[in-house]
Amino acid sequence: MDARRIALIVMTFAAVCVGHAADLETSLRAAAAAEEPRVIDTLKALVALESGTMDAPGLARVADDLQGRLGALGARVERRKLEGVKGEALIGRFTGTGKRRLMLIAHMDTIYAPGTLAREPVRIADGRLYGPGVADSKGGIAVILHSLKLLREAGWKDYAQLTVLFNGDEESQSAGSGALIAALGAEHDVVLSYEPTPAKSVMQAEAVLLSAAGTGTVELEVKGRTSHAGAAPGEGRNALVELVHQLSQADDLGAEVPGAQVNWTLAQAGAVRNQIPDLATATADLRLTAPDAAARLQQRLDALALQRKVPDTEVHYRVRIGRPPFASPDGRSVALAKKAKAIYAELDGRPLIFIPGTGAGTDAGYAGSSGKPSVLESLGLAGWGYHAKDEYIEIDSIVPRVYLTTRLLVGLGRGD
Ligand SMILES: [Zn+2]
Repeated sequence: MDARRIALIVMTFAAVCVGHAADLETSLRAAAAAEEPRVIDTLKALVALESGTMDAPGLARVADDLQGRLGALGARVERRKLEGVKGEALIGRFTGTGKRRLMLIAHMDTIYAPGTLAREPVRIADGRLYGPGVADSKGGIAVILHSLKLLREAGWKDYAQLTVLFNGDEESQSAGSGALIAALGAEHDVVLSYEPTPAKSVMQAEAVLLSAAGTGTVELEVKGRTSHAGAAPGEGRNALVELVHQLSQADDLGAEVPGAQVNWTLAQAGAVRNQIPDLATATADLRLTAPDAAARLQQRLDALALQRKVPDTEVHYRVRIGRPPFASPDGRSVALAKKAKAIYAELDGRPLIFIPGTGAGTDAGYAGSSGKPSVLESLGLAGWGYHAKDEYIEIDSIVPRVYLTTRLLVGLGRGD
């Protein structure tokens, strides 16, 4: 075969591929638009199943429902008990014919105690669907389920592995699921996370989130020696005085340890007025925005512990990490966000904005903690009132968000 003929065949093949991709985009856009009423039905059904993070029977009911929905989409569904919390995790696995490993995550639990639904029933008004947990993050669950339904109907299998994780303990700091999310994240190339994005009544446009702080605490413990505060103060070693000295040294750590924000919020010392105290403790709220900040902070604090004012006292600082930060110092989250923005531009001209960071923690931090996958957060529905009252989603965010997920997955599967 001559070179011209080969070139012609290659060009024709490329044109067919491009044409096919364009057809798929057009059909997905139409399918997403037609799907809105069914997404609303799913949202109403999910919100009707109360699933407060401390409510084991409620969490089991919503897990039963979602296990059925994932199974109906063709997933192999595994249900995992989670240590130390009330909720379980559902892992739905799909095996495709492509190359990439993709994961979608959202949580089934809410912050609301059982009975909230009776006071705040599901209702639709002014383009909003109201209900406890509808945005955070049952909206995200509905977007995932219906996006996968449309892709299944389109015959899309262009992935090696597609995994859906719904955890039931996010509002309990993911204490039982964090390690699972981290391990699954490390097995994938991309993780898309479905916390809500702020409503357009709050922020000027729908958004995605590029980073979130990790959370933790710093505990400071000072041990001294008791003595009579009036008769023999010199025999004592005042733990409170040393604590104050340590706090004054450890008050501006953010400047010394970039990526760590430390604010001392609790302190305790002494039992009675006339005794030199032998124990004093303090606790700080910790927010972490760099992956290695906790280790650098502990190092710095260990050095401060040696710079004592009161001799013979013992000083210990302990940095405890809760949720790891969601950070993408290499810009991979921004690259994903730019793909999302381009997909939004194919819609009705609505913009997609990037939120650079938040002080609130997210499971995206666990998902990306290995450094392996690219991670993007806040792909759920636009809404507000979460962790508050009268929580709602904006109905006009349903179609764009379903379309965004289907198109992102198709592109990511292709390796775009
Ligand atoms: Zn949430």
